[in-house]
Amino acid sequence: MTHAIQFERHEESAAFFSPLAGMALAEDRIEARRDPLTGMTAVASAGLEAKEEMFLGKTDWAYADLLASRSREGCFFCPEKVLEATPKYPDELVPGGRLQRGRALVFPNLFPLAALHAVVTYPEMHFLRPSEFTPGLLNEGLGAAVDFGRRAAHALVLTHLSIACNHMLPGGASLVHPHLQVFGGETVPWLVQLYWDRSAEWLGRHGESYWRMLVEQEQAAGERYVWGVDGVHWLVPFAPAGAREALAVVPDAGRVTDLDDEHIAAIAHGLTRILAWYEEEGLSAFNFTVYGGPLDGSDGGFPVVVRVIARTAFKQDYRTDDYFLQKQLGGELMFAAPEEMAAKLRALF
Ligand SMILES: [Zn+2]
Repeated sequence: MTHAIQFERHEESAAFFSPLAGMALAEDRIEARRDPLTGMTAVASAGLEAKEEMFLGKTDWAYADLLASRSREGCFFCPEKVLEATPKYPDELVPGGRLQRGRALVFPNLFPLAALHAVVTYPEMHFLRPSEFTPGLLNEGLGAAVDFGRRAAHALVLTHLSIACNHMLPGGASLVHPHLQVFGGETVPWLVQLYWDRSAEWLGRHGESYWRMLVEQEQAAGERYVWGVDGVHWLVPFAPAGAREALAVVPDAGRVTDLDDEHIAAIAHGLTRILAWYEEEGLSAFNFTVYGGPLDGSDGGFPVVVRVIARTAFKQDYRTDDYFLQKQLGGELMFAAPEEMAAKLRALF
């Protein structure tokens, strides 16, 4: 029996004698939202929007360009070094040791954190602003990652497989040179396992995938739905798990290795629009992850889902946007209402 997804909001108020109101009693209203599937929380309060600049800041592009030029010489991912300084896979996995698709090149991460941990880079592009990730480039990068993921899933024992991206230092990237990562193995990461477990429970309880219901419901309501084409649906999550988070759902692809060229193109297009918007808003660092269901072929109602978030802008003395709330309590801030963000994005797709 199918029930609609309930989007739960709760209002709290914090009262104190405020110097901002001449020490009179003031009350701040806080809105807390809970993700209907995972239970993760996101909070917004009056005035948080004005504080976004304190948290995320604005990019110092002159400083970013300086870092880009300083790190150019000796960069392991640039054309002069990449073929001698990066590892190779055995020929059984990838003939020649590295996989090439268009401008994208796939090779092993020198410091792997899972049985499968590959890097996908564009050797010719030492530095890219978010708006410079064109649909073509992302198509080649994601296409190479999926291609490689398929070979690896065939050759190795893998339970989970994701494609991820850290861009710029505040996003956790150790190199300025843009790159994606293919990450898979047998020990399923905690959050991926949570998605799988909750999605399977939902499917069992409602007889329909949470993610299919989410797409249908959000598309019908329209408030947070942004754009959909070729089976890829972009929306802004009700309770975001990061700054300016956008989400894509590919209901018909169960695993990352099931993504076809049309899916990849629609994911690349959406990412391009969102990244360009981040840059327009003064941001430069971001993360995205393409999640998929279990590679053993079981359908637990978790399809391919893409999540993209903005991180603190790159500048001198930047502060991280992750603090106790995110890292230790498992909550997130909403600087602006997801519904407002969706309205902005809709005009850009
Ligand atoms: Zn480089």
